[in-house]
Amino acid sequence: MMDSQLFVSSRDDTAGAAAAAALYQQHFGASPRGVWAAPGRVNLIGEHVDYAAGVCLPFALTQSTFAAMDLRDDNRISLVSLVPGGSEPVEYSIDLSQIGPGEPANWAGYAAGAIWAAVEAGLMPARGLNIALVSDVPLGAGLSSSAALECSVAVGAVELATGKTVDPATRRALIPCCIRAENEVVGASTGGLDQTISLLGQPGAALAIDYADNSTVQVPADFAGHGLAIVVMNTNAPHSLADGQYASRRGVIDAVTEALGAPLRKIADAPEQAAAWAAEHVPAATDRDDYVAMVRRRVTHVVSEIDRTKRAIAQLRAQDFAAFGQSMQASHVSLRDDYEVSCAELDSAQEAAMAAGALGARMTGGGFGGSAIALVAVDKVESLCRAVADAAAQAGLATPEFLVAVPSAGARRVK
Ligand code: ADP
Ligand code: MG
Repeated sequence: MMDSQLFVSSRDDTAGAAAAAALYQQHFGASPRGVWAAPGRVNLIGEHVDYAAGVCLPFALTQSTFAAMDLRDDNRISLVSLVPGGSEPVEYSIDLSQIGPGEPANWAGYAAGAIWAAVEAGLMPARGLNIALVSDVPLGAGLSSSAALECSVAVGAVELATGKTVDPATRRALIPCCIRAENEVVGASTGGLDQTISLLGQPGAALAIDYADNSTVQVPADFAGHGLAIVVMNTNAPHSLADGQYASRRGVIDAVTEALGAPLRKIADAPEQAAAWAAEHVPAATDRDDYVAMVRRRVTHVVSEIDRTKRAIAQLRAQDFAAFGQSMQASHVSLRDDYEVSCAELDSAQEAAMAAGALGARMTGGGFGGSAIALVAVDKVESLCRAVADAAAQAGLATPEFLVAVPSAGARRVK
């Protein structure tokens, strides 16, 4: 029996559907027409390369957001949400005609924006909806609660408004709609990884996404069948730096890519070429050598991470978990030293996990807080979590929480 203090709880589809339906009943005074769910995600490897035509390898978590929904007779989108750990539900209501870029730029924008974008894309007629949400995806932990919210609502809205189950083409067409909700309506930067896996995830598989051509391939990922587990270690670190740092990393990569005229992975010796470009484009009041070295490191991360992720996909296919763990390890070092997006909390979790016998461990997601992951033998999961929690306590860091991540289904109807 695992220590419930350490582990995040999560509901199965039946329990999640019942909780969302109960909130719906309580708030709207009727039963919902149906309940839809979409998962959070964790990225195994391939970090900070989605905006650089790179490759990544996420899978969908069991932990999901559940949306109980029905059509309304008017054009309002009426939302109520009980967030994980929250005691009181939050509410928001907006007319469909008022949703658009920057409106509403709050939590409701992820859901309302996904409906707005699906209408704009011609995937559903404009219809008002009542929506009651419960979720097991921790908010802001780097596990993509935002995509879980967008994708559960988007699939539910389209199925209700069209009266049809979404087919595979519609499912794919919803990916850019959910990205628009986040980029345009809420105004948050996102590369598209989260929405893709939340919509396309399959049980027992990770999804290799190649951003060079937006192709996706399901890769069998049966960790449990090999006596292994992927442990997610949510550092609970405050990550206020994340937005500005994301923009600055992305800014360097975008500028170098434009200057060199091709995706970085297509350029032999990209770090050297980037450094040569940087030497001619040193910003004012910046030390030249520092700037050139920084640009070289950033580009080194991107090209090495893309190569590493391609190798890791082959290693997972071959079920060579020792090699896969080493790739995870190398990815963390690259993110820490070359891309400089790790932080004390992530490094502490990563190092403690390795010392506790993990085959590999790395930060996952954008960095500066959020979560790290470890690949470890099932019988070492609990001792690893204790070691990571002890290391955080000794360093005076926030108390982490944990979940065992099992590759699960993408967005779906659950009731
Ligand atoms: P992440 O996606 O990694 O959890 P983000 O910052 O992208 O972090 O998204 C978190 C935000 O999404 C929250 O601050 C909140 O505004 C919104 N959100 C996500 N899930 C829910 C939910 N179930 N109910 C209300 N708001 C939510
Ligand atoms: Mg998010």
